[in-house]
Formats: sequence, C-alpha cells, structure tokens
Amino acid sequence: MSGLCAALTALEEDARVAVVEKSAALGGSMNLSNGLIWTFENKEQLHLEIPQGDEALQDFVVEELPAGLKWLVSNGVALAAEQTFQWYGWGRRANPAQMGPALEDRIRALGATIMTDTSLDTLIVSKGRVVGAVVDSDSGRSEIRAKSVVIATGGFQGNPELVGRYITSNAHDLYLRSNPFSTGDGFLAAMSAGAATSELMHSFYGHALVAPPARFNQFEFQSISQKYGVLSVAVNLRGERFTDEAQGTGEEDLNFAIAHQPEATAIYIVDSKIADMEWKDNAPGRVAISRAKTAGGPVAEADTLEALAQKLKAWGVPPKRLLETIEEYNRTVGSDEGADLHPPRVKHQIPLSVGPFTAVKVKAGITYTCGGLKTDLDMAVMRRSRSISSFRHLRAGASDMRMDMIPGLYACGCDVGGISNWGYMGGLSQALVTGRAAGRSAASAALASVEAEGANA
Ligand SMILES: Cc1cc2nc3c(=O)[nH]c(=O)nc-3n(C[C@H](O)[C@H](O)[C@H](O)COP(=O)(O)OP(=O)(O)OC[C@H]3O[C@@H](n4cnc5c(N)ncnc54)[C@H](O)[C@@H]3O)c2cc1C
Repeated sequence: MSGLCAALTALEEDARVAVVEKSAALGGSMNLSNGLIWTFENKEQLHLEIPQGDEALQDFVVEELPAGLKWLVSNGVALAAEQTFQWYGWGRRANPAQMGPALEDRIRALGATIMTDTSLDTLIVSKGRVVGAVVDSDSGRSEIRAKSVVIATGGFQGNPELVGRYITSNAHDLYLRSNPFSTGDGFLAAMSAGAATSELMHSFYGHALVAPPARFNQFEFQSISQKYGVLSVAVNLRGERFTDEAQGTGEEDLNFAIAHQPEATAIYIVDSKIADMEWKDNAPGRVAISRAKTAGGPVAEADTLEALAQKLKAWGVPPKRLLETIEEYNRTVGSDEGADLHPPRVKHQIPLSVGPFTAVKVKAGITYTCGGLKTDLDMAVMRRSRSISSFRHLRAGASDMRMDMIPGLYACGCDVGGISNWGYMGGLSQALVTGRAAGRSAASAALASVEAEGANA
C-alpha cells in the first residue's frame, strides 16, 4: 500500500519510477486487509490513547488523512462514506480488490516499470549517498541505479530472527498475521547503509487467532481473529491472568501481552451473556467463536466453570489454579475490592456468571512491527552516525540536538517506526500518508539532483 502510494505520487511529480515487488503480485498485506482506512479523529485523544511514539509523525498521519483519501478517490479508488471507528477514530472503507488494481493501473498508465518476483537485497551507497539498489530475481542479481530509493517492504514481522531479537523470545510460537514476504529486507538494507532506528522496537500490532490445530488461510485472518478477548477473562497456560484484558485501544494490547506468555498462548473464557454482547464496531464474540470451532480449533464448552476447568486440563491448564483465578476475578470486578485485583481490570468489568461457559485457546498473531527506521516528516531516513540518541528521556544541551539524513533514502508504511505502538492508529492510513510523503520527497530530491547535474554539465 505505501509503495503504491509512493510510486504514484512520484510519477505525478514527473519522476521516472521503477517498482520492485518481491511477490508475484502487488498489494502486500493491503490485499488481506479489511480496507478501512482510518485514524484518530483528534490529536489530543491520540496522545491519550497512544502516549508513546513519535508525536510529530502521529500528528502528520491525522492531519494528512483527509487529503490522502481525496487523492485516492481522484485516482479511481472507490471509497465508502465516512464512518466512525471505535470511540476515537474515523475513516472510509475501500475494497482492497478494487483499490490495488486501481492504483496499479494508474502507475502503469503514468509509465512506471513494475518488476514483480524481484526483491530488494542491498542499497548501493556511494560517498554516503544512496544511488540505487541491488535486486534479485529469477534471472539473477542486477543493479538499479536511481537518484532516490523509497523503502516500502512492510516491516519485519515475517523474520523470526528479528522478531526474536527485538520483540519476544517466543517468536517461533507466534502466528504471522500478514503477507509472508515482509521479512525485514528494507529494514536490514537501510541498517547496512547506516540508518537509525525508531524508539519502541519491541512493539507490534496484531490480533490473537484461534490456536492450532485450527486450519485457515490468509484471507481468513480477519474473520478468525478473536477480538472479543477484551470482554473475556484471559489466562495463560498456568491458569493465571497476566494483563488487564481490556486496556488500550483494542484487543491488540492483550495480543501483545500474550506474545510474552508461555507458547505465546492464552485462553479466552466467556459466559453466554458475554458471547452474545455486541460492542463498538464488532459482531458478538459468538460469531468468532463459531468460526474458531468450524476451523477445528481448540474450543471447550461446559455448563459450569468447574466442568470447564476439568476440560481445560487436556490443554495443560491446572484446574485448581484456574478456578481460583476466576473466583477472584468474579468476586472483585465491579465491587469495592476491584481495586485490589491484580492485574487490574479497568474497563468491561463483567463477571463470568451465566452458563454455558466457553473457552477458546488462542495464539498471539503479529500483523506488523511498529518499530522500524527513524525518519523525519519528509520520510527521509536518518543516519545513525550523524544523529543523537533517540531515547525519549534524553537530557542533552540545545547545541547537541543533531539529526541528519542519508541522502537519497526514504521509507514509508510499516518500515517507518514509532507511529502506532501497543495502541493502534491504523495501518492503511499510515501507509497512505507516509507513502505519499515519501514519493513527493524522493521525486523532488531526484529532480533537483538531475537539474544540478544539468547545470554542472
Ligand atoms: C488481516 C489484516 C487486516 C487488516 N485490516 C486493516 C484495516 O482494515 N485497516 C487498516 O488500516 N489496516 C489494516 N491492516 C494493516 C494494513 O494492511 C497494513 O498496515 C498495510 O498494508 C501496510 O502497508 P505497507 O505498505 O507498509 O506494507 P504492505 O502493504 O504489506 O506492502 C509491503 C510490500 O513489500 C513487499 N516486499 C517485502 N520485501 C520486499 C523486498 N525485499 N523487495 C521488494 N518488495 C518487498 C511485500 O511483498 C509487500 O507487497 C490489516 C492487515 C491484515 C493482515
């Protein structure tokens, strides 16, 4: 998504563009998405819900989304009417199957070269400036010389080594809930060229999916996600709660905590009234639970909590500890004792009281990494050796404030770090806004460089 937006914007600015795509078709995770291009309505609320991260980049996405949506429409993308999202967002829905081809048609019409089954390997650097890329394809390795390169490879969630290094030692236990090609190639190539990283390299966005042996394909990631987890009592394989299930912008926070539990696994337990609850923009949990069952995933049901605990013995959960956990939760939520509950439960304080009760075994899913390359608002990638520390709690004198870019290198989409983190402010909006900005900057730097060469010739 970000690469398509960058390429089309650069073409509109009169640059010559080559698009390099690792898979056989354009579109990446956008093709798998729900198509809702949304972000926060106002910046104050955004900073309240996602208090960490790069505020300048976050604000940029909020400010530029309306113009980005208009631009999509002007390029033939069909968008539904404006809608609200949760208690904090707004956006417009696209159909990915229409949006991808519409953008691709425009890119082809404006004369870009599109190379599929071709992947970025390394950047070509000369005298500190990026002057092209080495790419691999079935016909071998080749060089593409360019005045500017835009990295748009969609994050590093598909690379277990990088996920293990930055996010969790449970990397191999996670579900990859994205396209399978985003293995951090852009991140690694930029790092080799001296790029600086964002803060919060350990944060990621995703949702928990029903655990194996469930079988489903990548177009079912959305429907098989167990987002009602925020209403449930979530326990790990030891039968213990490990986080406030309902904290943050949505189930993504709970999913993040599950990634750090044994086997990156949890069990969502609901009673029948919770399973039937409609909340915010989501269908009742019963819908996702029924999909989990149809997929052959571990789902247990019983008329009493005691009987349910016995059934969960087969999943390795100790029944006595599980019943103690639920008993403490039921006794304290919503009562004067609630403040003593640990971990706390601030929202959705609903006891498990009406049978039958249902337990669904889930595994954390990683959709995209929120840490990545450090950029400015032109999406220029910062050079580590010419920049001061990116620590948030830095104490430095005004004269030490120094950041410098790597000339010729830009990034967008999930390759840019520090926008969403734990909390989520929309992946498609991030791709749209940063993609357009990167395309604009890359084109204007390239055209300026061509003009300068002409003047010197
Ligand atoms: C199930 C699901 C539902 C979602 N629903 C929504 C939603 O409703 N709203 C929303 O805002 N977001 C949603 N998202 C997230 C959204 O799809 C992503 O945030 C967005 O697509 C990211 O854009 P991107 O350009 O960074 O990466 P992508 O769109 O994934 O594109 C990255 C591209 O880079 C290619 N690539 C990787 N390595 C290389 C290489 N070395 N050389 C060349 N090409 C390479 C990949 O093949 C891919 O085509 C969803 C995601 C999923 C998986």
